[in-house]
Amino acid sequence: MRIYVLSRSKMVFAFLVVIIVGGLLTVSERLLITPSLVRAPGTYYMAHTQEKVVALTFDDGPDPIDTPDVLDILKEREVKATFFVLGQAAQSNPNLLKRLVKEGHEIGNHSFDHDYQQRRLVEQINQTDKEVFAATGTHTHYYRPPGGFLSKYQLETIKNNGRVVALWSVDSKDWRNPGVKQIVDNVMKNVFPGSIILLHDGGYHRIQTVKALGPIIDALKDRGYRLATLSELKTMDSETK
Ligand SMILES: [Zn+2]
Repeated sequence: MRIYVLSRSKMVFAFLVVIIVGGLLTVSERLLITPSLVRAPGTYYMAHTQEKVVALTFDDGPDPIDTPDVLDILKEREVKATFFVLGQAAQSNPNLLKRLVKEGHEIGNHSFDHDYQQRRLVEQINQTDKEVFAATGTHTHYYRPPGGFLSKYQLETIKNNGRVVALWSVDSKDWRNPGVKQIVDNVMKNVFPGSIILLHDGGYHRIQTVKALGPIIDALKDRGYRLATLSELKTMDSETK
């Protein structure tokens, strides 16, 4: 039998490798679902349908500057969408919540303060739901985790809380501020029947999203798509019928 004797620097290297790999495995367990792996079992990220229907979703609002602009564009084009609101923003803008519901849009839950680690998960969801209910008299059925990050344990916790985790299948990448044309292209190159499209109306000044929204809706309609809320889209899912 041969005995390998490692030099001191090799031992330090081996030790570091063990620490780093161990750390990565722990992180991957915690973040089992990442934005690049949003097509995860047990989550709602698309509807299985041949019909040309898609859902627009807006995260991180309501925002006093951008949300009214988004709502004006949707109203003008007679489109209903779904807004994943933050409890914190909802608390400061109850009138925008009222307007959302009055104009036929759906409100989803996006935590209270956008904590990516989602500490106090249930408490945050309930706090946000309380704000939405106080302003509109309606409850939130869908929950979208900040950044799309979610562990298996958190997914189970949310299910037990009576809510559905709603992710997305088409990322406009408007959060990167890549330019209006690029946002439109990111949607139009990837859209398919039943897809859920990710956009933002808050968290940062969303002027690019506001400018891209009209062209996105027009291009979708030109291709024969109809736009629905998440609940409407779900009724067309052949796998849940
Ligand atoms: Zn967000």
